[in-house]
Amino acid sequence: MATERTLSIIKPDATRRNLTGKVNACFEEAGLRIVAQKRLHLTQAQAEAFYGVHRERGFFKDLVAFMISGPVVVQVLEGEGAVAKNREIMGATDPAKAAPGTIRKLFAESIEANSVHGSDSAENAAAEIAFFFAGIEIVG
Ligand code: ADP
Ligand code: MG
Repeated sequence: MATERTLSIIKPDATRRNLTGKVNACFEEAGLRIVAQKRLHLTQAQAEAFYGVHRERGFFKDLVAFMISGPVVVQVLEGEGAVAKNREIMGATDPAKAAPGTIRKLFAESIEANSVHGSDSAENAAAEIAFFFAGIEIVG
């Protein structure tokens, strides 16, 4: 499998509980490299744009409010099959359904406050990385 990059976000529930390092350890222990990272406090417009694909979903308004409720850490993860590997490391959207040892099983508070975002395809990963990072900020 080829080396890929994927966009990850450590969400406000996790930054609030000071879990950035523990979440990052999960990525690194699984063989993903953090090749870009920054801490941001998203504006409403930024969160709405990032989650635009979910605009029609019932949870959209709450999701945006949650995502701007505190700082996030946005990051680019690199490694073999990084998109699928990160989804595995994260676990299912609903922590009640997430496999043991996954970030969401270990740390998530609820289906909404589920600690991490990860791109779901190579195509979306490229768009999501470009949303937050300039090429010069990514150091592989
Ligand atoms: P994932 O983050 O696993 O790719 P989705 O793309 O379906 O999941 O949803 C985006 C985010 O929206 C989720 O990570 C979660 O924070 C929130 N979300 C998803 N489904 C629900 C739901 N039923 N109720 C509340 N929030 C939800
Ligand atoms: Mg998704």
